[in-house]
Amino acid sequence: MQNFSSTVDLHTHSTASDGELTPVQLVAQAAEAGVSVLALTDHDSIEGLAAARITASELGVRLINGVELSSRWSSMDIHVVGLGVDVSDVRFRERLQSQMQRRQERAQLVAQRLEKLGFPGLFEKAAESAPQNIPARPHFADALVQAGVCKDRKQAFQRYLAQAKPAYVKTDWPELVEAVRWIREAGGVAVLAHPGRYKLTRTKLDRLVKTFSEAGGQALEVSVATYGPEMVKQIADLAEKYGLYASQGSDYHGPSMRWVQLGRMPALPGQCRPVAELLARKAQSKV
Ligand code: AMP
Ligand code: MN
Ligand code: MN
Ligand code: MN
Repeated sequence: MQNFSSTVDLHTHSTASDGELTPVQLVAQAAEAGVSVLALTDHDSIEGLAAARITASELGVRLINGVELSSRWSSMDIHVVGLGVDVSDVRFRERLQSQMQRRQERAQLVAQRLEKLGFPGLFEKAAESAPQNIPARPHFADALVQAGVCKDRKQAFQRYLAQAKPAYVKTDWPELVEAVRWIREAGGVAVLAHPGRYKLTRTKLDRLVKTFSEAGGQALEVSVATYGPEMVKQIADLAEKYGLYASQGSDYHGPSMRWVQLGRMPALPGQCRPVAELLARKAQSKV
């Protein structure tokens, strides 16, 4: 299955989290790529949405208020995308603040680990390019590359930052069911992000989707830029089994990952109910 160009991209990142483009640049780039429905889904942050919205209305792009929450399930980091969240919801904003607090604490610990490994001063380096000066792992990866320790981000993750590696710090993320609840309570649609990327057995993936669905989750990312055809089919079948909608997103982080482009991902199989339908219905019922 070839990736094709879609007008709908419901998973993207900007400099409000670990993306390379500013929200304004991202929306302009999306418009250029022919994307007409775009969700900006920064990690644990909605800070990029206001600027993105201005550019989106100028360029005729329909912007969906999104976020990608970090959560925990069965000792793994699991991501839940929220689409159509109410960005003025005070409780939701407080919950995002608590996520940034967790990130801040984790970043200090990551820096301590790196220092013990013989790489001092990386917090400051990583924080320079990070939103709110709170570095995520990719910012640390870049700092390791800049310091000449690793040749690229990928190597920095493989050697130091990925789960179970020496600078990996377990974060006290909310449970998956909590993250789903946060999104639902903020009026959003909860989407299980890239279920095919967690390297789970079929049985465990089924259990994850079941938990997610029972918690009020509404859609699975069936189409992700980096999926092969078998993965797309497997996730589409799970969506069908649990009566979930199907989402599609590039998970674009910027031009340096040349194999991921805005709006480019596998086509949704015919059996799927696109989550865009649910979003459109929600938008209608609000007016
Ligand atoms: P964090 O939100 O700080 O836990 O960092 C997670 C982010 O790191 C993901 O959203 C990806 O953008 C990036 N990431 C995760 N694993 C890798 C990897 N193996 N190589 C490069 N980037 C990665
Ligand atoms: Mn990321
Ligand atoms: Mn993710
Ligand atoms: Mn993402």
